[in-house]
Amino acid sequence: MSASLIGELIDRTVQAISANADELTELDQAIGDGDHGINMKRGFEAIAAQKAELVELELWPALQKSGMTMVMKVGGASGPLYGSLFMAMAKAEGSPVERLRAGFEAVKSRGKSDVGAKTMLDVLGPVTEALEVGADLTEVKEVAASALAATKDMKATKGRASFLGDRSIGHLDPGARSSQLLIATVCEILEKRA
Ligand code: ADP
Ligand code: MG
Repeated sequence: MSASLIGELIDRTVQAISANADELTELDQAIGDGDHGINMKRGFEAIAAQKAELVELELWPALQKSGMTMVMKVGGASGPLYGSLFMAMAKAEGSPVERLRAGFEAVKSRGKSDVGAKTMLDVLGPVTEALEVGADLTEVKEVAASALAATKDMKATKGRASFLGDRSIGHLDPGARSSQLLIATVCEILEKRA
């Protein structure tokens, strides 16, 4: 059970990131340094390269190891931030939703940031809250999509995009898009298995 779920999570997330890497890079070209697609692809391909070992683990230890890989293989802010998310979820106890809450809090403290700064937190936060009040997987996907769309009108106050000040307004945040993409992919896998 665990092995096939881990295998599917790896295959589908690496596929989603690869298929959308150019878009992530274009979003980062507009308000950052244009490497978000490359960073995410490098990280998820490194995770995929460890698939044989990861599928031998239980789900949460596999996520822990994947988080370490993100930290080690990805230059740029997003590697340590996604690494913190994965590792904190792995380390937390409790339900998957409680683990996501712990992961979200870890990204906040690692990035010294919060919702409203036009980052991945603006997708992760609303999704965490929706799950905490009992949203189903379809609703979670909708919340993630509208939270992503809402980053367009925000002004970045954290990360490289903050250097642009008001000129960051009018563009989607690249990390919010990668978070929404990962959340949608995980929801689709879980919906199929439910
Ligand atoms: P870098 O900004 O170092 O080039 P990436 O381009 O891979 O790294 O990732 C950029 C994304 O990381 C942003 O779009 C944003 O969502 C996220 N990010 C950057 N800084 C922070 C932070 N302090 N807190 C939360 N997320 C952040
Ligand atoms: Mg960048």
